[in-house]
Amino acid sequence: MDTLYPNVGCELNYHKDYELVIAVMLSAQTKDSAVNAVTAVLFNKYPTLEQLADTDIKDIEEILRSIGLYKNKAKNLKAICHTLLRDYDGKVPEEKNVLQTLPGVGNKTAGVIRAEIFHIPELPVDTHILRISKRLKLTDQNADATETEQKLKRLFPKDRWIKTHHQLIHFGRYTCTAKNPQCENCKLSRFCTKK
Ligand code: SF4
Repeated sequence: MDTLYPNVGCELNYHKDYELVIAVMLSAQTKDSAVNAVTAVLFNKYPTLEQLADTDIKDIEEILRSIGLYKNKAKNLKAICHTLLRDYDGKVPEEKNVLQTLPGVGNKTAGVIRAEIFHIPELPVDTHILRISKRLKLTDQNADATETEQKLKRLFPKDRWIKTHHQLIHFGRYTCTAKNPQCENCKLSRFCTKK
């Protein structure tokens, strides 16, 4: 993985901590490229947390319209902005259990935020990592995301968790895709259950 992907990282665009929280929440069941397209408009039009919190939700829905679940995500976005301003002085908290109280933020999203903003060792498991972990026999075939996260955290040294998270996602996005994986070019095929 280090040979294949020595320098991979988060592919969501953001400049401020709260923008990452919003971008990760928006990325549920949505490609990062699609999220980047809408956040480029959103964060340009509303460059502060206060402005986003005060914006008419209909305008946010209009900007998010091209991504899945946009109405629910617009509601979560407004609620996240209000909560951060009201309860956390506009700052993103780092505690996982606190992050998970934000609307639309679950275990995986909280892990991504902690790793990306605070550099706290985390190995959140998304759909790519779950699929690859099964194909490469890193987890049980019927394991869920939570069980797989625990398994991967036992398998990899803590100081590699964040890098491993990014490498596995990259491998899943561009080589070991859900449909039509590029097995003929795969450098990890000797470990694979699927080939
Ligand atoms: S051989 Fe194919 S299915 Fe197996 S890990 Fe490589 S790309 Fe994925």
